[in-house]
Amino acid sequence: MKMLGVLGGMSWESTSVYYRLINQGVAQRLGGLASAPLLLHSVNFAEVAQLQREARWTQAGELLGQAAAGLERAGAQGLLIATNTMHKVADEVAAMARLPLLHIADATGAAMRAAGVRRAAFVGTRFSMEDRSIVIDRLERHGTPVLVPEPDDRALMHRVIFDELCRGVISPASRVEVVALIARQAARGADAVVLGCTEIGLLIDAGCSPLPCFDTTALHAAAAVDWMLEDRA
Ligand code: GLU
Repeated sequence: MKMLGVLGGMSWESTSVYYRLINQGVAQRLGGLASAPLLLHSVNFAEVAQLQREARWTQAGELLGQAAAGLERAGAQGLLIATNTMHKVADEVAAMARLPLLHIADATGAAMRAAGVRRAAFVGTRFSMEDRSIVIDRLERHGTPVLVPEPDDRALMHRVIFDELCRGVISPASRVEVVALIARQAARGADAVVLGCTEIGLLIDAGCSPLPCFDTTALHAAAAVDWMLEDRA
């Protein structure tokens, strides 16, 4: 198996899901006691979130790039950035590490194309909803047009992510609000929703969503498992 390098901690709540899904994926494919060889650099999210709020993306890229270079020195052969928002600096980070990047939009875009989605709504942080260059443009290159919620709904989603999900708070009241938000995207013409923040799957799943869900965390983790095992095929 190839050695995966993971940049995590953004937030650790979702990194723990990645860790479980990647290990479960390898165990399912190989059986027995098989688990995933990986290296994790988990950052202090308070530092990264402050850089985001202050729009200091260059510094954020340097912080993550140095962490990724450490993963490369430690033996990582490929890189996964376990957050949508920090794909803002994905190219710079991968270049600093001199590692191939498993991009979160490629995993998600390919799944939507395979499922025949005609128009997807994207829910995530304010950053990744309002700056389409972070994830949405690359998603659309896979063939599915993407719409983002209206401003009030973007504010709601951003607040739930940073005030609740990234702090481990799973609120039934917020679930009701986000389900209603997704229903409004269906009314605007979406036939699927991209859970475009790696914590949203902690709150929303197929059981409660009014639209089929494309969970970036689960799809990215599955792509990582495919990549780790591809030399064995
Ligand atoms: N994990 C979230 C994402 O996928 C938000 C945390 C962050 O801002 O990096 O965008």
